[in-house]
Amino acid sequence: MPALEDLAVSFPDIPPSVMLKIDLLRRGVRMGTAPVGTRHYHHHDEQGQKPMAAQAHLQGSVMLPDGTTVFVAHNPASPYLIEADPDTGQLALREDGRDRVITPLRPGPRFGWTAARTSRQTPLGAVFSQSLGGTCGPLAIFLLRYCEFIKNEEQCRFCSWVRMGKSHEVRPDAADMREALATIWAEQQSIGYLAFSGGSLFNRTKEADAFLLYMDAARATGLPLPTTVAAIQALDRADSARLRDAGFDYACYSMEVWDAAAWEAVLPGKAHSVGRDRWMRCLGEAADEFGAGRVLCNFVAGAETAVPGLYRTPQAAADATLAGMRWCYEQGVYPKWATWIVSGGAVFATREPAPLEYYAHLIKGRQQLYAEYDLPVPATDCRHCLTQSCEGDLAVLDPARYAIGAAALPNWDRHPVAHVYH
Ligand code: SF4
Repeated sequence: MPALEDLAVSFPDIPPSVMLKIDLLRRGVRMGTAPVGTRHYHHHDEQGQKPMAAQAHLQGSVMLPDGTTVFVAHNPASPYLIEADPDTGQLALREDGRDRVITPLRPGPRFGWTAARTSRQTPLGAVFSQSLGGTCGPLAIFLLRYCEFIKNEEQCRFCSWVRMGKSHEVRPDAADMREALATIWAEQQSIGYLAFSGGSLFNRTKEADAFLLYMDAARATGLPLPTTVAAIQALDRADSARLRDAGFDYACYSMEVWDAAAWEAVLPGKAHSVGRDRWMRCLGEAADEFGAGRVLCNFVAGAETAVPGLYRTPQAAADATLAGMRWCYEQGVYPKWATWIVSGGAVFATREPAPLEYYAHLIKGRQQLYAEYDLPVPATDCRHCLTQSCEGDLAVLDPARYAIGAAALPNWDRHPVAHVYH
């Protein structure tokens, strides 16, 4: 396993902590003995948010000393181990089986509201979830706790979520939502963004109906809403217009992987229900409806390398994803990426993660796109909530090289760090 200094030698153009972040994401971490544990907020239901151990005290992310925030993904086979000093509680990252400390760590935020209930005894954590451990306190509502692609075993190959959530639809309760959101605002004082998300339905108009229902309930709270984004399947023009009219600031229709062959191999459900061509048409239409830069498209960067024989080299795979990002820009769609996390429960659970060389190539190419296209970085993004990608880390840690074009414009710290009461 590379130490920071080894990463600096192998990838001299990239800040070592950025490469460490990617390595931690793609290989996951193991938790040492007490008192380190975690609540796994990547799971989207109350049960999934139960601590793995009674002594759990990590929720979602850890921070490297330079402020780089990393989503914590569990992997019992990871060579990385997070341990706490038994006397001081100070966290450190170590290589399993060796004494050498790679770096000290700080835990991500641990909010008191996640253990609270509304007056109707609904756990707040069942109404809102912390989103990906962002330290600016972003939230997610998982409204459709069900994905129909599982019916034909056609779930996205990187997705473990379909096996974790409860398979039923839930309805928003405006009173619970109001109480929960008020409690969260009072504690955190910052909510980086509010993402509405969930599984997929074959009937995408019905899927959009649920998003509208939840947005209505959120607006009915009368409380201020942070920047909102609907992460949903690509909708046809009329349904995109409904999302916009309901008040969503952004829509995110994620292609996940770029090439048609990668779609077939990685996204069989999406490929057979909507299809790649129609998905792309929907993205362009949505950009018309929402306006340039208001539609996002995420790529699960690295998942395409798990398809045997698809790409000759890691660089070729990264170039394919970069081509997808370029296509997005040409449509007025802002491309995002997240490091592929090899998740237990996913069809690809036993595949090798994408090599570091893939990411070294991808992140440099992605930053270059900022110089070519002037679409602004969306208001959903800051360095504190991009816990699975590195656009903000690169721009802040090496501005001469990476804060270029549109990446130079935003204040990457623009979402205030959330307050924690305990
Ligand atoms: S659409 Fe894909 S990523 Fe989303 S829940 Fe279904 S299988 Fe998972």
